[in-house]
Amino acid sequence: MQFDKHTRLLVIAAHEDDEVLGCGGTLAKAIHAGAKVAVQFLGEGVSARFPIGQYDSPEFARQTAQRRSEAQKALKVLGIKEAHFGKRYCCQFDTLPVISIVKEIEARMEAFRPTILLTHNPSEVNIDHRITYQAVEIACRPTRSWVPDAIYTFEIICSGNWKFDPFFKPNTFVDIKKFWNKKMKAWACYEGEARPFPFPRSNKGLEVLANFRGMSAGLELAEAFCQVRAKS
Ligand SMILES: [Zn+2]
Repeated sequence: MQFDKHTRLLVIAAHEDDEVLGCGGTLAKAIHAGAKVAVQFLGEGVSARFPIGQYDSPEFARQTAQRRSEAQKALKVLGIKEAHFGKRYCCQFDTLPVISIVKEIEARMEAFRPTILLTHNPSEVNIDHRITYQAVEIACRPTRSWVPDAIYTFEIICSGNWKFDPFFKPNTFVDIKKFWNKKMKAWACYEGEARPFPFPRSNKGLEVLANFRGMSAGLELAEAFCQVRAKS
């Protein structure tokens, strides 16, 4: 994946924190190279921790506001100035018409005109990640007025690595060694998300994954992607 000042990179992510886990180092690298980066979050990331339908409590409002604030801090660490936040309930994208998600992605692509698009891959336990992939696939059919030149999927630890089968099969490995500290600083903004190792979303868990993916391409620390379409 190459970046320069002409690159316009759009991330379509289900939840706040997916941008850091899936591609935080790559986003920092793209911005360093002069790329313009925008992130579209389709849903929020806390409602799955509450009983279904009980979202009118002060505690729900507090956690939602905290997560938004954490996301804004993380985006600032990565140098991302453009972000759009969705309100769909976490782990309930399957209760919504996919077409409503498709239309939002189409509108974002029309407005931002990305040359590269990064999104979830379909081999994930998290239902929202799978539906996001599906909606992007529909939104990127080449009859649309704007589709990116290259589309890549990323993996989310604690979702992808808990899949039975099939597993994510990356074919693109971005060297993020120089941007590792920035990724970890951005991850630290999501204070409530980490737990001690061997929980995958521990600092060590994230590093183990980056080392493991890196080894596929002779790199020390890498983020892995699957290129699902490219035109030139
Ligand atoms: Zn997620």
